[in-house]
Order: sequence, then structure tokens, then C-alpha cells
Amino acid sequence: MRLTRDAAAALHLQMAERLWREDRLEQAAAAMSAAFSSGLPASHQFDLQRMIDAELATRRRCVRVRLSEELELEAASLQPAWRTAVGAVACQAIRDVTRALDVRWPMPVLLTLVPDSSWVTFVHARYGYFATRSDRLKVVLPPSSAQLGGVLRSACLHEIAHAGVAVMAQGRAPRWLDEGIAVWVESDSRPAGDIVGAWPRFASADALSGALEGHAMSLDGRDAAICYALAGRMVQTEALRGGVAALQGWLLRIGAGEPWRRAYGRAFRRPFWRTEREWRRTLREARRR
Ligand SMILES: [Zn+2]
Repeated sequence: MRLTRDAAAALHLQMAERLWREDRLEQAAAAMSAAFSSGLPASHQFDLQRMIDAELATRRRCVRVRLSEELELEAASLQPAWRTAVGAVACQAIRDVTRALDVRWPMPVLLTLVPDSSWVTFVHARYGYFATRSDRLKVVLPPSSAQLGGVLRSACLHEIAHAGVAVMAQGRAPRWLDEGIAVWVESDSRPAGDIVGAWPRFASADALSGALEGHAMSLDGRDAAICYALAGRMVQTEALRGGVAALQGWLLRIGAGEPWRRAYGRAFRRPFWRTEREWRRTLREARRR
């Protein structure tokens, strides 16, 4: 029996995603083009295809070096001085994240610096992106985020914090919490930005997650700035209220399979609806000022 074209395309696509997760980029690219030649519409899986292409092009152009037990760097320009400087920023970032979240890294973080901005025009994110691979926690940064003296430190802290959250919560943290922790870590635990304008559109954790997950929001725009600041502020408030240990316990409970609202109740010894009600009051007050 022959597979229908649709079934064949779906199989190739599934294979492409699996190979990408295994960081086997040559094979992933081949499976992706097999999916397209079996009739997969080009608009489908646009991001997956672009990620495979950008990461593969980077791998072909770049060298990979081990910087520490927890960190590997994959980058085009590896003059010793540049590598030492970038490596120092990245190593410090992973130490800061380890300390902030008390993460035990099950595998190294692979920091991939894409050398050509035209390869990553699709990236719809604050700095770059993070994805768990089978034997690495991979952080991909476009050239705009990898500037020494620019946002490199913030970008490393933010994306490596996502890696830490993924490890602790096993990929189950709600989006607002995941982003909130990344912003909180990136801002050295200070309040991050202005939340005026958040009420009433982003007045619940679910509304905030929905806005951060959606592709409708322009990331350069004011709404994005408000959402990131708000998520960071919420996490900071909880860290101050319950202590960082409660925050860590919350992530670990989520990672053990508890629904996040119930896990919050157990870690902070108060119901989440009460916390959400307080947030709403804070947002209304911020609007009045
Ligand atoms: Zn983020």
C-alpha cells in the first residue's frame, strides 16, 4: 500500500521536527524538503523550516568550543580575544541563573550565535530563542543580541533563564511565568519597566500568557514592553512575598506534574486567585497615577 501524499508529508514533517530536536540539522533540513516535495504547503511550519535553515547555515559556518562544564559556544568569529570576552559574559550569565534559580543542569547549554541577520528575520522574540534538544539546552541569538557592550549580557541572562525554567518545570510553566522569570533574572531582580496601560487588557495571568504567546503583538511596540514588564513585576512580587525558595519550589512542583495554580498554592501557602486580585488592584492604581 502506498502512503497518500498528505500522510507522507506529515511523516516527513514529524521526522524533521524530531531531528531538529536532536540537533541533527543536515538530516532535519533533508526531511523538511522531503515534506515540501510531498505536498506540505510552504506556509505550514514556516518557523520550523526557518529555524532549521538558520541553525544549519550557522553550523556550517561556525566552530564549536566548550567554555565550561555547563556551557558550549558555537560562533563564526573565534578570535581568542573576542571569544574570551563573549565567553566571560555567557559564563557569568549561566552562573547568575544557576544562583537565582538554584538549577541543576542535566546537560550543557549550547549558545549559538547566528552570524548573519538575514538568516533570522523570522525571529519573533525579545532577544532570540531557546529550545530543549535531546542532549543540549540550545539558545540561539541573532547578531543584534550578540553585541559585546550591547544587550549580550541581558540576552544571555534572559534566554538561559528560559533554559533554567524549562529544566525545573519540565517545560510546563505557563508563558507569563516563564517570561516573568526571564525578565526578573535579566533585570537583576529589579522592577522591570513601566506597567501603566496594562489595565484592563492584561489583568489576569491567562490574558498575559495569551498576549505573550500570540504573534499579533509587535515586539518593538508598547504592548510588548508592558507585557514583559508586567510579567517581570509579577514574578518579583512573588519572590519578595514568598522568598526565592518558594519560587523555586513552585517551579519544581510544576515540573513534577502539578497544575501551576495548585502548585502556587502549595509553594506560597495562599490561593492564586487572591494573588491575582491583588495584581488587578495594583494595575488599576498604576493607571490612576
Ligand atoms: Zn523570553
